[in-house]
Amino acid sequence: MSETRNMAQYSPEGLEERWYDRWENAGLFAPDEDLPGAPFVITLPPPNVTGILHMGHCLGNAIQDTLIRWARMRGQPTLWVPGTDHASIATEQVVTRQMAADGIDKRAAGREAFLERAWVWKEKTHSRITQQIRRLGCSLDWKREAFTMDEARNRAVTEAFVRLKEKGLIYRDVYLVNWCPHCLTAISDDEVEYQELQGHYWHLIYPLADGSGQVTVATTRPETMFGDTAVAVHPSDPERSRLIGKTVLLPLTGREIPIIGDHHADPEKGTGFVKITPAHDPNDFQVGRRHDLPQVICMTPEGVMNESAGKFAGLDRYACREAVVAALGDEGLLGKVEAQEHQVGHHDRCGTIIEPYLSRQWFLRMDQLAQPAVKAVADGEVMLYPERWIGVFNNWMTNIRDWCISRQLWWGHRIPVWYCDGCGGEIAAVEAPTACPDCGGEALRRDEDVLDTWFSSWLWTFSPLGWPEATADLKRYHPTSVLVTAADIIFFWVARMMMASYEFLGEKPFGEVLFTGIVRDDDGRKMSKSLGNSPDPIDLIDKYGADALRCSLVMLTPTGQDIFFSEATLEVGRNFCNKIFQATKLVLGTWDEAGLPAREEAPATAPRILDLQKALGAHDWHDDAGAWFTELWEAVFGTPLPANVGDEDLELADRWVLGRLMRTVADYEDAMGRRRLNDASYGVFNFFRHEFCDWYLEAVKSRMRDADARAVAVQVPVLVLGVAYKLLHPVMPFITEELWSWLPPARGFLMVSSLPENAGAETFAADQERFGRVMEIVTVIRNLRNELDVAPGRRGRVLLRVPDPDQVDDLREDAAEITLLSKLEEVTVVCGGDDPAPAGTGVCGTVEVFLLMAGLVDLDKERQRLTKELDKVRGWIKGCEAKLANEKFTANAPAEVVRKQEELLAENRATAETLAQRLMALAEG
Ligand SMILES: [Zn+2]
Ligand SMILES: [Zn+2]
Repeated sequence: MSETRNMAQYSPEGLEERWYDRWENAGLFAPDEDLPGAPFVITLPPPNVTGILHMGHCLGNAIQDTLIRWARMRGQPTLWVPGTDHASIATEQVVTRQMAADGIDKRAAGREAFLERAWVWKEKTHSRITQQIRRLGCSLDWKREAFTMDEARNRAVTEAFVRLKEKGLIYRDVYLVNWCPHCLTAISDDEVEYQELQGHYWHLIYPLADGSGQVTVATTRPETMFGDTAVAVHPSDPERSRLIGKTVLLPLTGREIPIIGDHHADPEKGTGFVKITPAHDPNDFQVGRRHDLPQVICMTPEGVMNESAGKFAGLDRYACREAVVAALGDEGLLGKVEAQEHQVGHHDRCGTIIEPYLSRQWFLRMDQLAQPAVKAVADGEVMLYPERWIGVFNNWMTNIRDWCISRQLWWGHRIPVWYCDGCGGEIAAVEAPTACPDCGGEALRRDEDVLDTWFSSWLWTFSPLGWPEATADLKRYHPTSVLVTAADIIFFWVARMMMASYEFLGEKPFGEVLFTGIVRDDDGRKMSKSLGNSPDPIDLIDKYGADALRCSLVMLTPTGQDIFFSEATLEVGRNFCNKIFQATKLVLGTWDEAGLPAREEAPATAPRILDLQKALGAHDWHDDAGAWFTELWEAVFGTPLPANVGDEDLELADRWVLGRLMRTVADYEDAMGRRRLNDASYGVFNFFRHEFCDWYLEAVKSRMRDADARAVAVQVPVLVLGVAYKLLHPVMPFITEELWSWLPPARGFLMVSSLPENAGAETFAADQERFGRVMEIVTVIRNLRNELDVAPGRRGRVLLRVPDPDQVDDLREDAAEITLLSKLEEVTVVCGGDDPAPAGTGVCGTVEVFLLMAGLVDLDKERQRLTKELDKVRGWIKGCEAKLANEKFTANAPAEVVRKQEELLAENRATAETLAQRLMALAEG
C-alpha cells in the first residue's frame, strides 16, 4: 500500500514520474506482439528538436496518448513512435544568432564549423523536449525514436529525392519564389503568412513615348517600377486597347517599354492599366512568360535596390519607396494616392515581409502526386475529422502548385545532386559519386542547398519504420492508424504525407486524421510565445499534475474546436482527481474494516480482451443478479469475489449504479468510436462525480457502516471503482494507475489491463428507472427543505400520496431509500385522503410530496412568508384582470397576446389558490 493513501488531499507530486518509470522499465510502451488483433499505430508529429513544449503540443499529445492507451487496453498491439524534427530554418536562425553573439560570422566560419555547432545544440535541446513529453505521460516506444536527420532518415530523404528526380518529377528552374530577405532563402507558399496592412494605392503616370499622351497605373509597390518591362491593358477594353503596340517612357529612368494586351488587366479595376514587373510579382511573372518579356531584377537578395534602380541603387526597398514617390511628385508624375488595406505576405518564421524573387531553385511537380490523395479522401479511405476540413483539403489539392523544395540554408538534408565541371552534367545519387558517369571527370561539386524541412516530414509515417529498407516494422505497422495534428499544417504536411505514402508505398499513410483546435487564452487570442500569453506547461504540471492538465484539455475540447484555456480550467481536473482519491479512500477504508483480503502482488490473470457480452452471456442479470455480479467481478479483476453475493444482496441502489455503469461503458465505447474523446471522458466524469459519489455512496453508506452487511456491500463500489479507473485511464493515466494499485482484488498494471466493451446498456433498466424516481422525489424533498429553511441536522417526516393503489406497494419498498437519502425520520405512503397539515408540498409526476412542518419549521414565519407571497400574486391577478377588461386592449392586441394574458391570469389564480390552501393548512396546525 502506497503512502499516498495517507495524504489528506491528492497530490501528484513525484507520483507521476514514478509511474512513468515503472511503465517504461516494464517495457509496456512497446507493442505486445502476443495479442491477436490488428495493430494500432501513431507516429508522433515530431516537435522541433530545439523547441520547448507548448500548450498546442499538450493538447495534441494528450489526445494521441488517450487514443493510444485506449487501443492498448482494448487488446490491440499498440505502437506510438516518437521522434523529433530538425526544423531547418528555426534551428539555423538560433545557431546563427548564438554564433553572432560569440562574435562569429556564420558565412566566414563556413559550413562545417556551423554544422558542428548546430549538432551540439541539437543534442543539448533534444533531451529537454523529450523529457517534457515524458512528463505529460505519453506512452511512446522510446526504443524506436527517430530524428528527421539521423542516418536512417537521411537515407530515406535521399532515396525519395533520387526516385522522384529519376521519374522526372523534380526539376530545376529559374522561377519566381517567395524570398525572405532576412533569412536569405526561398520559402514555400505555405510558409508565407498573410497580414492585413494599411498601405496605399499610388497612381503613377507613364508618358507615351510619342508624346501623344500618358497612361496611369496604380500600384501598392512603387519601388518595383524599376523592374517594369511592360504596361498591360485588357485586349477587349474598348477605349484603352487602342494603345496596344505603343510604348511608354518609364519615369525616372527613361527606359522605353511596350503596352501589351493581356487579360490579367481588369478594365473594371484600378485605372485599367497595369504595370508589369515579371521579376517581382507572381502574376506579372506569368504575364511576362506569355509575352516573352525581359525579367529585370531591381533588388539584391537582401531587399536593397540594385543598379537597375539608377540613382536609387543602395537604398533599402522601403526607403526607396518613399524616395520614388517624392521624386515622381516633383516631376508631376504622381497622380492620386488612395489609402488601402491590403494583404502582405510575411515569413512565418521571422516576420519579415517576403519579396517575390527570381532565382534558380529545385521544384517538385505536384499535380500527379496529388491524384491518389484526393481519391483517398473522396473514397473515405482516409477520414478527416471534423469533416469540414474535407472541402478545404479538396480546394487546395485541385489548385495545387509545384513545391519549391530547395532552401539556401546549411542545417538540413543537402540536395543529393552533383555537377560535373568537365561536361556540365548533373548527377542525382543516393551515394556520393566519385566520377561523372558521362565523361569520367572527377571534378564534381555538390549542390550547395538543402531541402525544405517538410521534404523529410512528408515521409514521417514510414521513414521512422525503416523505409526504404523492407523492415519487419514497416510491414507490420504501416499504414498507421491515426494522425493527430493541428489544422494549420493540413497542406504543409497532412496532404503531402498522403502523396508520399501513395507514391513510395502505394498505400495510405493513415486511416484517419484528427485535426485539433487552437489553444486560445481567455480573450480568444492564440497562445504564443511572442504574445507572452502561453503558460509553460511544465509549470502547470508541477502545480496541478499531468492528469489534471490532460483531463481539462481533453474533456473540455470538442473534437477539432478551439479551446479557451485558463488556469481555472485546471481546477476542474484537479478537483476531479481529488474526488476520485477521496471516494477510493472511503471505500477501501470499509474494505479493510470488513476484514476482506488485502492485495496480493501477482501477475494479472484477467484476459486482455474483455467482451462483456461474451463474459456475462451465461449469467442473465434478470434472473440471477448475484451470479451476474460475481461473473462481472471476475471478468474485470481476474480474481474471485471474496464475499459471496446472492441475488437478494443487491439492493435497488446497487442495481441502479451497476446499470448506470454498464450504460456508461456503452456510451464511452460509442463516443470513442466516433472520436469524440471529450464526450467519452465527460460521460465517465459525470457518472463518477454525480451518480457514483453524490448518490450511490450516500445510498450505500449505512450498509458500509453496518458490520454485518459491509463485507458484501462494499464489493459493489469496489467494482465500480475498478471499471471507472479503466475508463478514465486513457485520459488520466497516473492517478488511475496509482489507485488501481491499491485495489485489493486488482492485479498487475492498469495500463495493460483490459477495457470492458460491448456492455448491455439496458442492464437493470427497470431499476434504473425506479431509482431515477427515488432521486426525483429526494430532490423535491431537498428543495422543500431549502424553501422552508429547515436546518440541515433536523430530520423530519414526509407523506407521499398517490392516486393509484397499485403504486403504493412499489413506493413503500423505496421508502427506506428515500428516508435515507433525504435525511428523514420516516416516509409514509398513502393512496388518496385529505391533505396533511401543515406541510410544505411538492409534486413529482403523480406523486404528491408533503413535508410535515410540525416541529421542523417556525410556523409564524412561514405564515408571514406565504401571506406576502399571496399578496404579490393577487396584485398580478388584478393587473391581468384590468388588462382583459380593457376593450381597447382586447380589440386591438393580436389574438395571441390576448390568449397569453388569459393564460397568465389562469396560472396566477391557480397559484393563489395553492398559497391560500397552504395558509389555511397552517392555520389549522
Ligand atoms: Zn525569414
Ligand atoms: Zn561529366
